[in-house]
Amino acid sequence: MNNAKISTIEWGTLVGQRPRQAGCNSRGPVHGNEVQVPLARFTTTDGTSGFGACRPLSEQQAHAFLGERVEDLIDAGRGVAPRAASIEFPLWDLEGQRTGRPVYQLLAESAGKTVSEPLRVRCYDTSLYIDDLHLATDEAGAALIASEARFGYEHGHRSFKIKVGRGARHMPLLEGNSRDVAVIRAVRAEVGPDAAILIDANNGYNLNIAKQILAETADCNLFWLEEAFHEDGALYEDLHDWIEREGLSTNIADGEGQASPMLLDYARDGFVDIIQYDIFSHGMTNWLQTGAQLDGWNVGTAPHHYGRHIGNYVSGHLAAAVDGFLFIEWDEVSTPGLDGSAYQVDEGYVRMPDAPGFALTLDEDLFQQAVTANGFSVRL
Ligand SMILES: [Mg+2]
Repeated sequence: MNNAKISTIEWGTLVGQRPRQAGCNSRGPVHGNEVQVPLARFTTTDGTSGFGACRPLSEQQAHAFLGERVEDLIDAGRGVAPRAASIEFPLWDLEGQRTGRPVYQLLAESAGKTVSEPLRVRCYDTSLYIDDLHLATDEAGAALIASEARFGYEHGHRSFKIKVGRGARHMPLLEGNSRDVAVIRAVRAEVGPDAAILIDANNGYNLNIAKQILAETADCNLFWLEEAFHEDGALYEDLHDWIEREGLSTNIADGEGQASPMLLDYARDGFVDIIQYDIFSHGMTNWLQTGAQLDGWNVGTAPHHYGRHIGNYVSGHLAAAVDGFLFIEWDEVSTPGLDGSAYQVDEGYVRMPDAPGFALTLDEDLFQQAVTANGFSVRL
């Protein structure tokens, strides 16, 4: 090993655009077109750089990492040191650049697995928001969301997540439920029988509504119901048993946001089928442990990351280390300055690039503009 130390840390936020506005989820306002992409770049005394999404980092906190040896902050076998959790993603990229290996190879090795290459990881189009509130009829609303699914299909997607729970806030309850069902049916008709369809209520259903929606869409073969309601062991056990009795194959997925500390217990006990902790806030190092635990329980892994663009590229690396990894959440965004073109969505899969680190590149001028305009740079 060499003694390379962190010599420069630059922080800046790039701004991306979605191809169309993302509307509401069941509980919040319109998400919009614009995506903030905060990035930190770490450069070492031997001239190697790595960058990635970063939790908010003050100039003072950044200073504290200057002069640290890289190998004291990240070890490919054990992951990132707890004190460096906030800078984990730049460190994984840096470790990949230093070793000339893709991050997924580092993760696979730490999990004792080998990667079949070329690595392809299934993904879903996460862009089907509640975009139809201005439309008066279920027919028109459903046709709009189906057209969005068609757009995704034409851009390589074969799995689709639909935001539901219109009756939780944005529409009267019964009208909202009816619109949800119409939308699910229209998307299924649009994308054909082989596509995976996922629905996400952002906790906007209750147990009875969840059952009603699943019963009314039984012939749509929904792959998962995400965040039906806030995690509750008794209610999830009831829903899980009901799904089995009805002969449905819908999985119960949960874990983004303020997840219940009991969630993993529900997964271990078999009431929750898929865990979705955020790739950035839970972190890759924690995910290595959680994913192994979930594999042992035969529970699926599908990290959340919506809204930061770069999650499209980094989350699939975990698939090389976790057998139960199901999908990359794909939020189509274009961010000037961030080149992710090494990742391509094709027939429902992301082809993962066989290149060092996360295989992403920064436009130097645009990144420096961001560092000057909204960030900072500290050096030894
Ligand atoms: Mg969600």
